[in-house]
Amino acid sequence: MKFICDRMLGTLAKWLRIFGFDTYYANSKIDDAELLEVAKKENRTLLTRDKELIYNARRENLKIIKINTTDLDEQLRLVLQNVKIDETKFLSRCTLCNTVLDEIKKENVQNNVPKKVFENNEEFWFCPKCNKHYWMGSHYDKMLKKIGEIKNIN
Ligand SMILES: [Zn+2]
Repeated sequence: MKFICDRMLGTLAKWLRIFGFDTYYANSKIDDAELLEVAKKENRTLLTRDKELIYNARRENLKIIKINTTDLDEQLRLVLQNVKIDETKFLSRCTLCNTVLDEIKKENVQNNVPKKVFENNEEFWFCPKCNKHYWMGSHYDKMLKKIGEIKNIN
């Protein structure tokens, strides 16, 4: 399942990308008509709590998950109960731009990550679009903690 988050749900979009879901974030540069157009064209499930947007999306027969809470854990739970979580997809996307990450050899990252990170990690990835580097550090630990928290809500 692919998602599109409205402009109020930037943090949720980031977290869905951490979980490996293809998630389009409609920032403030995109108006509602464009957002619906992208959702339709790319067959994305709309995540929003905007009543007008929900009304218009229903008229277009789009799939919608109504996010009627500002609590991030609750938001994630609302989305994740509709999908199968695939652990092999964790951390496979750039949290900033949604691009699928490339693996990069350790010897090629030395000048691009902090010294401590280089010393403490063997595996690295990078986003070919933003050139941002990733490793199994704080993100991964935070994510595992988050999964535990969400399971506790259920
Ligand atoms: Zn990126």
